Amino acid sequence: MPDILIVEDNQVNQKLIAFLLARAGFTYDRAENGAVALQKLAAEPYRLVLMDIMMPVMNGYDATRAIRNDPRLKDLPIVALTANAMRGEEERCRAVGCNDFIAKPYSKDVVLATIARLIEPPAAQAAPTA
Ligand code: MN
Repeated sequence: MPDILIVEDNQVNQKLIAFLLARAGFTYDRAENGAVALQKLAAEPYRLVLMDIMMPVMNGYDATRAIRNDPRLKDLPIVALTANAMRGEEERCRAVGCNDFIAKPYSKDVVLATIARLIEPPAAQAAPTA
């Protein structure tokens, strides 16, 4: 079971986030828009969703609303990722049900700190015996 679903239409951003998560020990899966994300969320459990907002087919607002309307997914942590620095953007993301918000361009530290506020870290690797 992957820890995190990366929902992001931009391939470069998708790869950057995937790399960052893998380095931090999280497993992940990817979806290129909100509709694909809903299919994946229906098929298996995830611990957290990183949700881009501007995407073709189904955007992050609509995908988040759909998740919150699903009794099985209503408590799933969702972090919005958006390049849109428009005033009110964070409030708009929170209003549709996102738990937290990260503005692009984001730093590795901000992404990991935000995730750490919502879910437990990946299972610790067995410490090497000295
Ligand atoms: Mn996008």
